[in-house]
Amino acid sequence: MVPATGCQGKWIWKDSYVTYVISQSCVDLKDKACVEECPVDCIYEGERMLYIHPDECVDCGACEPVCPVESIFYEDDVPEQFKDYTAANAEFFDELGSPGGASKLGLIPRDAAIVAALAPQAH
Ligand code: SF4
Ligand code: SF4
Repeated sequence: MVPATGCQGKWIWKDSYVTYVISQSCVDLKDKACVEECPVDCIYEGERMLYIHPDECVDCGACEPVCPVESIFYEDDVPEQFKDYTAANAEFFDELGSPGGASKLGLIPRDAAIVAALAPQAH
């Protein structure tokens, strides 16, 4: 198990590394509706999409229903065509580690490799 900050700032224990994942339909949209719902501030803004920190996410599910383009999935439910986004969400934090909160960082001007390589996405 890994420690994570829970709702209302209490410390809880995560049962596993399974997490929520943001996928391709967020790219070049970034309306940030999910950010408003996250109780632990673990949804970070990249250049072209947002990324959920796999260790900081407490799997509450609050972000998933508010996404207007159904871009957020529980890791086990990520559609086949978006499977690479599970690794892409984690890859985004390779250099950052676990900052413990997205709002203090703001925009991080880069993306995971598969996102950076995408053509502009129309919405
Ligand atoms: S709500 Fe959906 S589209 Fe909007 S920023 Fe979050 S994941 Fe991206
Ligand atoms: S499931 Fe969504 S709202 Fe809940 S902690 Fe994870 S990223 Fe934040």
